[in-house]
Amino acid sequence: MKSISRRDFLKGSAASALSLALLSGSQFAFADSETAEEKKADETLETPILIVGAGSAGMFAAYEASKAGAKVLVISNSPSANATNGASITGTCAVETPYTEEIGQEYSLEDLYKRMISFAHWTVNPRLLKNCVQLLPSNISTFAEMGIEVMLAGDRYGIGFNDVHIFLTQGKWALAEQKCKDQGVEFMYNMTAEAPLMDGDTVVGIRATDNEGKVYDIKAKAVLLACGGFISNKEKLAEHFGDIDIVDMGFPYNTGKGIEVAQKAGGFFERITGLGMNDIYGMNAKSSKISVFNSNPLMQLAFYGNLITDEHGDRFMNEYMLANEPMAGGGEATLHVKRYYCIYNEATLMKMKDEAYYQTIGAPEFWTSAATMFNAPIPELDANLEEALQEGWCYKADTLEELAEMTGCENLAETVRTYDSYVAAGDDPVYHKQPALMQPIGEEGPFYLFEYNPSAFNTFGGCRTDHLTRALKGNFDVIPGLYIAGVENGSLYSSPYYDVGGTCSGLALASGRLAGMEMAKYVAE
Ligand SMILES: Cc1cc2nc3c(=O)[nH]c(=O)nc-3n(C[C@H](O)[C@H](O)[C@H](O)COP(=O)(O)OP(=O)(O)OC[C@H]3O[C@@H](n4cnc5c(N)ncnc54)[C@H](O)[C@@H]3O)c2cc1C
Repeated sequence: MKSISRRDFLKGSAASALSLALLSGSQFAFADSETAEEKKADETLETPILIVGAGSAGMFAAYEASKAGAKVLVISNSPSANATNGASITGTCAVETPYTEEIGQEYSLEDLYKRMISFAHWTVNPRLLKNCVQLLPSNISTFAEMGIEVMLAGDRYGIGFNDVHIFLTQGKWALAEQKCKDQGVEFMYNMTAEAPLMDGDTVVGIRATDNEGKVYDIKAKAVLLACGGFISNKEKLAEHFGDIDIVDMGFPYNTGKGIEVAQKAGGFFERITGLGMNDIYGMNAKSSKISVFNSNPLMQLAFYGNLITDEHGDRFMNEYMLANEPMAGGGEATLHVKRYYCIYNEATLMKMKDEAYYQTIGAPEFWTSAATMFNAPIPELDANLEEALQEGWCYKADTLEELAEMTGCENLAETVRTYDSYVAAGDDPVYHKQPALMQPIGEEGPFYLFEYNPSAFNTFGGCRTDHLTRALKGNFDVIPGLYIAGVENGSLYSSPYYDVGGTCSGLALASGRLAGMEMAKYVAE
């Protein structure tokens, strides 16, 4: 296929506004006939490789495909590359890098693969996971090629090895975009992929609309969907997770349309759907600061490992899991209740002004997450507490009974007393929590009850692919021309999320690169 640049194409097609049928013959049709009837393309573009999404997977796919010499157009419904979740990542997973070697770490890619595939209970495509894990070290060297510096972080979750490489370079995504542009990649923002263009069973492009409602048909020999799943789509979240308010911690552009496009092209929706839970702080939809690093610091109280209850005031999990494995099992456990709450008496809460809660309970060594994340007093506690009370995600009362009445957590008082008896006995007979995390609540008020909703960075799950990221039908036939990468690749991520930090982006970057390499080969055929 002849590669035509966007500018060239814009010039030509704006003048002629060719119809789809004229361009391609009668067998060429939209997968979604309703849409085809409703709309006529205002403009038609053509590119060998079309990448939908400028986040982790899309950007790295573009870099890899263009490095291999292919012509690439990237479209994204975001206003810029910076307004993508990919741009927000602070760290990414890899082992066997110069950084892990420098500290003499022997934990290998083989060890990592074995851990992940076993964590996933083989529910993912083992060959695809293997391919992506193998690419993790070269994700780091790709960042180095782009001029993006990293350093190795500590073992936050206590998994026994270091894998998260933290970014040191500011504005890394603009830099990555520029490196792609240097290799000839073109970017169009505010462009939403709506439906696949099909020639029989083959995907031959994407119908897209821009923010002004202008309709484009973008013809391409290879199309990559890297749209980041559906965390920004409340209806789709409800379909999969029920009536829970799940707070979206990212940009609001990941609406699940990429998955719909794949399904319209004949893709098979895989059975694994999960969430990349927010592991930085708890969150409440009522907060005025829905932010990862600039939220109200009292949001961290959810991750302190003491008593947590559901909306009835009943205990429902080993709180250690939320304290130390918030992204994996801990966050997952909170999806089994409508909301969750933690409770502190005033004396305990006020101590946090001067000393980290973690320190006041003796800095238990096994709580590695606190050592790195929660090892400081709460700044401006009074003002932040006032804000929490005003915004309605913190409740204050003199007695446990009043608090229960005020919040509808009807079993709260009884739960607290039972829990305190476990604390006194030094034994949690229900969830077997480590005694060091069991701190009494007592009878002396006032008490504060903090309310939380689950919050997440992204969903996992989407349509099935093979080991090379090629989209598959339910019968395992490849859908020619269609590739899927990132968190909406339905064959790569487990639920719960892998317990290895930074694999969210690590696998997104790696699957994007794999798709980029494969598409470059495919379009050269
Ligand atoms: C604040 C924050 C911090 C994070 N920190 C980390 C971290 O430190 N480490 C880590 O591993 N992970 C982290 N994550 C998660 C990580 O960002 C994602 O897992 C990863 O970026 C997923 O990559 P992706 O390419 O699949 O999707 P994204 O990076 O979300 O990219 C999706 C792209 O598709 C576009 N798009 C969506 N729908 C359409 C459509 N219909 N048409 C056109 N374009 C569309 C979007 O605008 C975007 O450009 C963080 C997430 C957030 C929100």
